[in-house]
Amino acid sequence: MPELPDVEKVRRELLAWLAGAILTDVRANDARLVRPITPASFARRIRGARVVDVARRGKWLRIELDGGARVFSHLGMTGDWVARELAAPDEPHERPRFDAVRRGTRRSVRYVDARRFGRLVAARGDIPEWTELGPDPLADGIDARALGAKLTRSARPLKIALMDQTVLAGVGNILATEALFRAKVDPRTPSRAVSPKVLSRVTRALEAEISRELEARTRCGHEEEAPSFAVYGRAGEPCLTCGKALAHVVLAGRGTTYCPRCQR
Ligand SMILES: [Zn+2]
Repeated sequence: MPELPDVEKVRRELLAWLAGAILTDVRANDARLVRPITPASFARRIRGARVVDVARRGKWLRIELDGGARVFSHLGMTGDWVARELAAPDEPHERPRFDAVRRGTRRSVRYVDARRFGRLVAARGDIPEWTELGPDPLADGIDARALGAKLTRSARPLKIALMDQTVLAGVGNILATEALFRAKVDPRTPSRAVSPKVLSRVTRALEAEISRELEARTRCGHEEEAPSFAVYGRAGEPCLTCGKALAHVVLAGRGTTYCPRCQR
């Protein structure tokens, strides 16, 4: 599932493709992605508008249009945006498409989602899914005191609390797993038992991991070439630091890999 660094990369691409462009045509053709409104009314709300900016908060993107309309995009499990020649035929999972013109250059920007767990919402003003998000570590920075105050209210394992989108927006399984390894903190630690000293290690580790992944994604350009991970997806393999076999536990239904020696 795309996490903060993946979605930020998409935001930068969308901004490069669409900033200042007029959406000359919008074809949705997929009732599931744009529900509860119909594809026709989705298209009607945004067709003819000019793209002013593309923002991101956590795993949500917000395409801002003149006239006040906004398109919110969540990539779900497999969502992505691509740019095509206007005449390029729609591939099976390329919908909706936004045909855009800027300074005489025409291109078609299309949402692609093989498993279709993503969402697209056309609205005026912000939607609850956007406003209810906690601070975004990249856009807002992480305020360790505010984060600590939220964590003390919960007995959940620290890793699960970090993945709560109202605690920090954009942190998913990969970022939480990698940051806790980097910080040498056991992912099962109850949130409210985290000391200020440990919290500051976790905060720094999250920031460092976000920068590392974002840089790797910006450099390589393709999901298949995404950065390699120290622990995520490596259960049973030797820890890169100490050589001990990495352990696997299930926390709140999510698989979690960690080093039982380094992360105490
Ligand atoms: Zn280790």
